[in-house]
Amino acid sequence: MSAPLVDIRNVSHRFGQLAVLKDISLRIEPGSYTILLGPSGSGKTTLLSILGGFVTPSEGKVFIRGADCTSTPPARRPTTTVFQDYALFPHMSVGGNVGFGLRMQGVDGATRAARAREALALVGLGSAFDKKPHQLSGGQRQRVALARALVIEPAVLLLDEPLGALDLKLRRQMQDELKAIQKRVGTAFIHVTHDQEEAMALADHCVVMNDGRIEDEGPPERVYHRPATRFSATFMGEST
Ligand code: ADP
Repeated sequence: MSAPLVDIRNVSHRFGQLAVLKDISLRIEPGSYTILLGPSGSGKTTLLSILGGFVTPSEGKVFIRGADCTSTPPARRPTTTVFQDYALFPHMSVGGNVGFGLRMQGVDGATRAARAREALALVGLGSAFDKKPHQLSGGQRQRVALARALVIEPAVLLLDEPLGALDLKLRRQMQDELKAIQKRVGTAFIHVTHDQEEAMALADHCVVMNDGRIEDEGPPERVYHRPATRFSATFMGEST
């Protein structure tokens, strides 16, 4: 087996008295699409925030590419997070938005533009460089947010309910897009959702969470057809 890209070892987290993660251990393989699936309040976002460096766990360690990143701040770890509201800068062009992170890294203008064009092409928006965010549809804006994250070339892309703001039809369409983009770039994606269908459509590896613990994990077909626990069986059978 290849070395894990991400190795979460015995992570627990409390907010005050509230234990939200209870001894989580999880390995993420390079190039994989992992879905963290579970009901609201099960701890998915907290785990993603720990991976992104926004929360330091009360206990346990997170290794990325073999390095202990447990307390490394977001800007200094090889992860990028795409949030649900994808917050593009409205006054900047699409190209400016995508190149923004590179500008913060001190990359020169010509290189920034070239890399932003490349990232936009990857998400199927090669012609949107000079547009403003308000000229794009919701799905297109989401793809700009993806391009903006991918242009940094993170080792791991973290997605927090990335399709949550879209209507159901667009959501299903964007699922196929997301999977295709992930396979094209080969970056490991870790994606939080409470939508079982989304998990089935996207995951190489599906992690079912409940009450701060991992109930079940494996290929989505296995988790769906041969769930390891009663919770997993019940939850996988519910539809959104
Ligand atoms: P999920 O993403 O699965 O909905 P979360 O990780 O957002 O779950 O939340 C898990 C639990 O932690 C919930 O009970 C939530 O209310 C609580 N929680 C999340 N963030 C905070 C916070 N910053 N302060 C206190 N409690 C929090």
